[in-house]
Amino acid sequence: MRAVVTGGAGFIGSHLCERLLAAGGEVVCVDDFLTSTPRNIDHLRDSPGFHFIRMDVNQGLHVAGPVDAVIHLASPASPVDYLRLPLQTLRAGSAGTWNALELAAEKRARFLLASTSESYGNPQVHPQPETYWGHVNPVGPRSVYDEAKRFSEALTAAYRRTLGVNAKIVRIFNTFGPRMRPDDGRAIPTFICQALRREPLTITGDGSQTRSLCYVDDLVEGLLRMLDSDHGGPVNLGNPHEVTMYELAQWITKLTGSTSPLTTIPRPEDDPERRRPDITLARELLDWEPTTPVEHGLRETIACFRRRLSTDGIEETG
Ligand code: NAD
Repeated sequence: MRAVVTGGAGFIGSHLCERLLAAGGEVVCVDDFLTSTPRNIDHLRDSPGFHFIRMDVNQGLHVAGPVDAVIHLASPASPVDYLRLPLQTLRAGSAGTWNALELAAEKRARFLLASTSESYGNPQVHPQPETYWGHVNPVGPRSVYDEAKRFSEALTAAYRRTLGVNAKIVRIFNTFGPRMRPDDGRAIPTFICQALRREPLTITGDGSQTRSLCYVDDLVEGLLRMLDSDHGGPVNLGNPHEVTMYELAQWITKLTGSTSPLTTIPRPEDDPERRRPDITLARELLDWEPTTPVEHGLRETIACFRRRLSTDGIEETG
């Protein structure tokens, strides 16, 4: 299979490229490093099937030769990034997705959109099934991401309906693992970095809000199964097991052996209270569910962060 992976140098994209190459596929990774670093794909550059194109997919997406699949991940993804890059985020969800769909249509390739649990906004239904239409503030600060992804979904569904493109949508819930950026603002990298630096772990609000945490290897498996299925989705991919932010901070403190105290800071605006996928559809259609214990995933992620913090010259203290 020859797959184009937009956003392939990002956290999830780099794991996906690795997996496609390991299966004997050819990968055209397209990225402009807007929210990632070339280091994420350094280890892939010598693989015979790996090709890299530095390109802003919002401006156009041109790939020579045959293409069997287009997997569209390119978009700022963490709240820190999309709040800092609101217009690029809206463009990635609109023009970027349009360009990726056009490439799939032109090459008669399968198309997979990486949508998000943020499509549900601050949900009033728990857990969230795919049939829930969401509760999104269309003009709040987070809308640049939520609404961009909702537009991406509408566009993908329209290409499938009207042009017959074999296009599918997955809604990804919180995913974690090695190669997340230490400064991406999400709870896991933030807590791990604070714990390793022996700084207080900053819990937003009272820490009772929950997230469900899926290890990246499991997520990539789900993406590939969805790509192989004939279903258009949307299909939720995530871990149905909820963890409070307070429990997560305690867990990371224990696994890092840190003596950092826990402290609280204000919650960001429109921060969802609970997030938990209903993965009945993924189980039925894809025979998929997460299998990696969260604790194993946290250990792998902590090990990666220890390496990065020391090579970046930010030594652990204390
Ligand atoms: P990431 O920021 O690590 O990766 C995104 C990649 O896209 C980066 O390499 C970035 O440089 C690239 N990119 C952004 N805009 C681009 C553009 N215009 N042209 C070319 N490249 C561009 O984020 P991630 O966590 O790996 O997320 C990947 C995808 O999965 C995103 O679409 C995100 O919305 C979705 N997603 C992720 C999560 C999660 O928990 N990580 C949850 C839900 C959805």
